Amino acid sequence: MLERMVSPKKNYETNPFPVEYSTDGKTFYAVEIEINSRCNRTCSYCPNSVGERIEQGEMAPEIYQRIMQQLQDIQFKGRISYEFFNEPMLCSHFFEYVEMTKQYIPDCTIELYTNGTLLTYDKFQKLVSFGIDHFVVTKHEGIDQYCFDHTWKKLSDQEKSLVKYQTHEELKKSNRGGVVKAGPERSTVLLPCYIPEQIVTITVAGNVLPCFEDFYQNNMMGNVGEDTLINIWNSEKYKKFRYELRKALRHMNTPCKTCNRVEVLPDLPESMMKEFTVK
Ligand code: SF4
Repeated sequence: MLERMVSPKKNYETNPFPVEYSTDGKTFYAVEIEINSRCNRTCSYCPNSVGERIEQGEMAPEIYQRIMQQLQDIQFKGRISYEFFNEPMLCSHFFEYVEMTKQYIPDCTIELYTNGTLLTYDKFQKLVSFGIDHFVVTKHEGIDQYCFDHTWKKLSDQEKSLVKYQTHEELKKSNRGGVVKAGPERSTVLLPCYIPEQIVTITVAGNVLPCFEDFYQNNMMGNVGEDTLINIWNSEKYKKFRYELRKALRHMNTPCKTCNRVEVLPDLPESMMKEFTVK
């Protein structure tokens, strides 16, 4: 049943969302880098439970260094993190990459998203000293003898202030572009999406994706080995994709047409999202 009748055409012509959310002419605020493909969990709400990542292995140091150089060249000051559908602490270069990040782009913020199964107190302290600014630790389903529970008890109040510690029940889940059954059941067909306006995902092989929900890499925009990230971002193909999502044309692209993500912008009010969704 329609919560509210809204013509897609009307929405296309009179997008009610503030134009300042558009980043055309600006750059992304976050870069999520898949430094390794593997995870040590297969949660039911993750695509790893139903399929294999296309790219396997770990990001080569030359590729990581190239990304850092490209971000330094544009004086990047946004957020860096290391996930796609992986557990970044499994990467054999993890500490080296964290250290390199702050050497190349000291003004960035590094946020570690981790399942916490490998995050001992010693590693926590080492990562803070290497430049991690914020930790988002999620205790996923089916975990006993949880490593981070022990670490959490040892953290000082100041160290705890660097951590968002949550369980998987607290996650705002989605169906990951239609790959798994999770998240809201309502259709989001009329809802604009601003994820591609803000966040860039780079895969193990250096391929640039406009969305972290694109498990099967339907929308590859370029490769950082063949062009710079900023050129790829400013390409007509990328701009067109951002435009279509901004205008709520989810049906134009896979996996957007089957994606039920409603958190399309961190501060987008829930009331605004409800306006343009259908049941
Ligand atoms: S609609 Fe979904 S899949 Fe498409 S860009 Fe937005 S979050 Fe990603």
